[in-house]
Amino acid sequence: MSDWSIPLSDLDYGPEEEAAAVRVLRGKWLSMGPEVQAFEEEFRTQLGVKHAFAVANGTAALHLAYLALGLTPGDEIVQPAINFVAAANMTAAVGATPVFADIIGLDEPTIAPAEIQRLITPRTKAVVVMHYGGSLCRMDEITALCRQRGLALIEDACHAVGAGRAGGWGDVGCFSFFSNKNLATGEGGMVTTNRDDLAEKLRRLRSHGMSSLTWDRHRGHASSYDVTLHGYNYRLDELRAALGRCQLRKLARNNARRGELRRRYHRALAEMPGWVTPFAAQPDPGSAHLMVLVAPDPARRQRVADHLRAAGVQTSLHYPCVPDFAAFERFRPTGLDCSRAYASRVLTLPLYPTLAVEDLDRIVTLIRQVAVD
Ligand SMILES: *Cc1c(COP(=O)(O)O)cnc(C)c1O
Repeated sequence: MSDWSIPLSDLDYGPEEEAAAVRVLRGKWLSMGPEVQAFEEEFRTQLGVKHAFAVANGTAALHLAYLALGLTPGDEIVQPAINFVAAANMTAAVGATPVFADIIGLDEPTIAPAEIQRLITPRTKAVVVMHYGGSLCRMDEITALCRQRGLALIEDACHAVGAGRAGGWGDVGCFSFFSNKNLATGEGGMVTTNRDDLAEKLRRLRSHGMSSLTWDRHRGHASSYDVTLHGYNYRLDELRAALGRCQLRKLARNNARRGELRRRYHRALAEMPGWVTPFAAQPDPGSAHLMVLVAPDPARRQRVADHLRAAGVQTSLHYPCVPDFAAFERFRPTGLDCSRAYASRVLTLPLYPTLAVEDLDRIVTLIRQVAVD
């Protein structure tokens, strides 16, 4: 519930989620157990990855990815400047250095392969890509580059659950189930890999570095455990896993609906002089997490955002340029022209599977009223 007449995002929750929550409460097992195991198995199968581990959130997934890959102080992790801050924060958390790469262009705000190439040094150990708004990065070029240069590849697939092979190209894939994501459980996430060696590390790092789970011991499958590495408690609980299973069953339908709505936006907002509609020329990404629009200049963006706000329509900005945050001053490069222009001009519009077509059309009308003179 919100005070906006049209919020930025909304949940598709119903009787299925309610029944799932009641089932877990009545079962009286709340921490990681059968629901988590089923969720992991269903997610793994639906996304076509070899291993999937449910975690507390998407940030934990990224942290575990870096830890499992053995990234440590002195290592450089090349990553997009236009991203949610989590990938960069977790880089700092393991003591590594974030090296920020520019995006391809205003119409394709994903990490530029040429930038990755330019920024590689002898200390570069890994590359993070982020499938912005569910639109896939240039994975053919990037996977070839990483293979050639012996770099680990991590996919921040938090926008891209169910978008093609997203999360399955790299060494590790990271997903978030935060409330506004395509698959929403409130808090929650998944870390995936096709590599058996990383899988075992991810599994143990998630739960204190322990060799067996409370659930296994509860069922009598194990009576003791060893601690084989210094781990964390990044587990997901049964309630959220049960919600995740419901959301997973709705994912394909909801992603398709997002795609339809985004195409309608793209058609309706095409050909406004000076405005750019990122990814409009590309095929449906498969998860259409965000609908973004780039204004001719920051003032024009503000004017449209204010006009929408006055009409009760919530908007947002995905994202500020990460190295321009105060905490990243010591990692702040010059340049990044495209990312900085993008951050100053991008506007995110409401997009969610239950968004009514009439509401979408109303948003478009409001934008057109003030977008151009
Ligand atoms: C949401 C998000 C995250 C972080 O996920 P949390 O579950 O909120 O920790 C990381 N990266 C991107 C691109 C995201 O959208």
